[in-house]
Amino acid sequence: MTADSATDPKVAEVLLPLALEGAYSYGIPDGMTLRPGDFVAVPLGPRQTIGVVWALKAEAGTDKKLRDVIGWFDMPALSETHRKFIDWLSAYYLEPAGNVLRMVLRAPGAFEPPREQIAYRATESVPKRMTPQRARVLEIAREGFAMRAAELAEAAGVGTSVVKALAKDGALEAVALPALRAFTEPDLNAGGFTLSKDQAQAAQALRAVVAQRQHKVMLLDGVTGSGKTEVYFEAMAAALAAGVQVLLLLPEIALTGPFLERVEKRFGCEPAQWHSDVRPRERERVWRGVADGTARIVVGARSALFLPWKKLGLIVVDEEHESAYKQDEGVPYHARDMAVLYGALAKFPVVLSSATPSLETLVNVDRGRYGVVKLKDRHGRPELPEIGLIDMKSVALEPGAWISQPLFEQVEATLASGDQALLFLNRRGYAPLTLCRACGHRLECPNCAASLVEHRFRRQLMCHHCGHLEPMPQACPHCGVHGKMVPVGPGVERLAEEAALRFPEARITILSSDLSRGTLLRDGLRDVAEGHYNLVIGTQLVAKGHHFPHLTLVGVVDADLALESSDPRGGERTWALMAQVAGRAGRGAKPGAALVQTYLPEHPLMKALRKGDRDSYLDQEKIIRETAGLPPYGRLAAIIISGTDAHETERFARNIGMIAPLAEGVTVLGPAQAPISIVRGRHRIRFLVKATREVNIQGFLRLWLKDVKPKGSLALQVDVDPYNFL
Ligand code: ADP
Ligand code: ZN
Repeated sequence: MTADSATDPKVAEVLLPLALEGAYSYGIPDGMTLRPGDFVAVPLGPRQTIGVVWALKAEAGTDKKLRDVIGWFDMPALSETHRKFIDWLSAYYLEPAGNVLRMVLRAPGAFEPPREQIAYRATESVPKRMTPQRARVLEIAREGFAMRAAELAEAAGVGTSVVKALAKDGALEAVALPALRAFTEPDLNAGGFTLSKDQAQAAQALRAVVAQRQHKVMLLDGVTGSGKTEVYFEAMAAALAAGVQVLLLLPEIALTGPFLERVEKRFGCEPAQWHSDVRPRERERVWRGVADGTARIVVGARSALFLPWKKLGLIVVDEEHESAYKQDEGVPYHARDMAVLYGALAKFPVVLSSATPSLETLVNVDRGRYGVVKLKDRHGRPELPEIGLIDMKSVALEPGAWISQPLFEQVEATLASGDQALLFLNRRGYAPLTLCRACGHRLECPNCAASLVEHRFRRQLMCHHCGHLEPMPQACPHCGVHGKMVPVGPGVERLAEEAALRFPEARITILSSDLSRGTLLRDGLRDVAEGHYNLVIGTQLVAKGHHFPHLTLVGVVDADLALESSDPRGGERTWALMAQVAGRAGRGAKPGAALVQTYLPEHPLMKALRKGDRDSYLDQEKIIRETAGLPPYGRLAAIIISGTDAHETERFARNIGMIAPLAEGVTVLGPAQAPISIVRGRHRIRFLVKATREVNIQGFLRLWLKDVKPKGSLALQVDVDPYNFL
């Protein structure tokens, strides 16, 4: 035995993608050399699973015979930064590291040998026998591209047997195609505009930060349409020139074809995409490309953070204020915050871009922790179109009507002048509530403590919490009386019905996530942009960054929805949404206007909205948050206890409440029934932990929950920095 092999590590600590706290020990068989970060196959009970080497040890601590690592995957190891990132995220959110690792392994195909594809191309030789079918195949094959048998057969309108027979005759030859299409290197000067003076300055500031190759967070703050995208493209170009990989994060809903085309034009190559619609084979390609460093630009939704980055050097988070960056199921994490963490661990800059930055980010700018560059509207327009308030307490509405007279008149005038109007209501479906007029019974979800929402187009009742569907009953399920079920309150479908009655000449369309997805949605948005419709009824789907040049009037039907919620960020969200939806108006040649229906015209938010004064509103909001000790001035964590049995769940929650430790600067609120007290048949009870910024809230939670073991149907979920309070 040589001296070297005597000191070779004999044990690998392997993290497995399971809800396990730490890594598991495995023996390293003779002849196998492992490095930390290597992907390995290991036995687990009767199965085999893929894991990542977290550490190597000279010897096992015990005499217990360890099972051996089965095999090693010939692919780049997971970087030390990435492993640190997983450990940090796990500690921050009190989530087993294995659950975080599972998010890294979301491309199963990447662990199978790459499959080659066989394609065919024409040879010089002529087949012994010629038929019209064979001639068609050869004609296409002679165009020069190697094609798979099925593709070639389809193009020629023949069966695949014709292709195979030609290959046997020697008129076609089989060639192996690379299993996965390679990524193209970006061309940094492929596209782009001549930047305005403001843009050029902002771009220069970001480039300077990128050149530092250090951790620094920069906020890019400017109204929609001010040209932020072009500016952060310059930061991306600078990072790409330095040889690193770049991640552009977007809320899933904003990952549209036109946006991707913009990236492609700017960088002269198709960026790698990562989101829920990406097919398995493409996921495999992107995963491998990110791991070996050939995928230089990735445009993705939040989970793209977990791809096995080889040399990530810049993250841009567009629409950084979006709550879609917070994942609530599985591992609850906030992708913007974790992007900043990744940048801090790997020492690279992070750019946050928004027209309505979150208060968290703005306060970080105030404190000097983040830098900021601002863009003014290059058209010299005010930040927002003129916003008028309609005091709904002073207008009379017919029952079942939601469009007030002043709004009606403005819409009519807009349509008459040949322009487009948008009526915005952030509620899907026909009516949020259905009641029986005979007995007062309301239709509820059988699995959740929530009303069923009528979706009239789909002729169904739907639960927006669990997705339960049922047909609209003819008779009241409670009292049996026929024909007395009535809708209460509006959804977009009902608003469209009212609009059709009151604007009989209008060409109306509804844009709502449940009615249009994918290509249907793309077509719908394009039709609106091209002016095929002149009255658009929409949910927040229409608010997100779309460009409708003919739109000059936005009517907000109910601005109070989020303000009245118990969400501490309700005001901030309302501001962002109002600014976004009002900002849809007047993006073309003509100026736009917005009219907002509210029962709270005296609310500071409404007043600031009318003046278009974001900073004064946010200053007030900061004071409110600071006084209440809410984020970003204090810390929050939620604990959600759930179980199928109401009493058992309650008892479990009470017992947990009783062992809450006392700690300075920490207040525990609850246990209290969650606002939606039953979801999917599970009763839900919440605690809210409020702490000052100095408190290590994770330490407090760990101490509190260390001996808590939910049994049977009971479950306990910790949500650090919660964004959802339902
Ligand atoms: P934001 O990201 O702030 O919403 P964009 O970068 O999308 O703004 O710019 C808005 C529109 O203006 C886009 O259609 C974009 O192509 C165009 N644009 C941006 N900068 C320039 C420029 N310097 N010259 C010409 N057009 C530009
Ligand atoms: Zn339900």
